[in-house]
Amino acid sequence: MKIVVLGHYGSFAGRDGACSGYVIQTDKSTILVDCGNGILSRLQRYCRIEDLDAIVVSHLHDDHIGDLRILRYAVETKQAFKQFDGRVKVFMPQSPAAIAKEIRQPAVFDTEYIYDGLAVEIKGLSLRFALMEHSIESYAISIEEGSKRVVYTADTVYNEKLVAFSQNADLLISEATFADLSSLAISVPHMDALQAGLIARRAGVKQLLLTHFWYEENIKECVKAAKQNFSNVSAADEFKEYIV
Ligand SMILES: [Zn+2]
Repeated sequence: MKIVVLGHYGSFAGRDGACSGYVIQTDKSTILVDCGNGILSRLQRYCRIEDLDAIVVSHLHDDHIGDLRILRYAVETKQAFKQFDGRVKVFMPQSPAAIAKEIRQPAVFDTEYIYDGLAVEIKGLSLRFALMEHSIESYAISIEEGSKRVVYTADTVYNEKLVAFSQNADLLISEATFADLSSLAISVPHMDALQAGLIARRAGVKQLLLTHFWYEENIKECVKAAKQNFSNVSAADEFKEYIV
């Protein structure tokens, strides 16, 4: 499995960056996990919209779906120009209902709602979803091909279910919005790099990739913090490819 990081920012992108979006590619399939702002133009380095087997959305915050709106317009335009006569398969949560309703355009997207425990097959990829703890409905996603497994935490606070869900993953892609949450004056529904490292250690994963950074966070400090709990850790680099 090849994983390409298209964007590694949370909330909004820092200068020249993009928010959440990951291409997962195998010999048989190409899926996009999350479609935050800045992702559509970068996606086209790797595949055409019409060649995507599915888009999988972890939750309906704009840093994870911002470019789904312009992608919808792109599909409508391609359809009008007779360049594409299909629809794009989208897996997404069903709340907040008003946002779900806005995205769910049957002429463009073949939408399927995800729920806790859902398992789906997409051309040789086995996906499973686990409901996390965030300010809205948000799912961690397990992506498996043969004996290899990648787990993406999406946005969540630290929780025991995530430790169990990540057990023995080859790669854990974890949000680490800040290096250390205790330095913040407010409480946020996210994890820090220390917690990401702790989950990686407790779950016995092989490799940890930190992502979803606050735009002015020092990413090197995030890696340093995670290393206090887990050694095989790096920060997700935009456009970098990771193989498991
Ligand atoms: Zn986010």
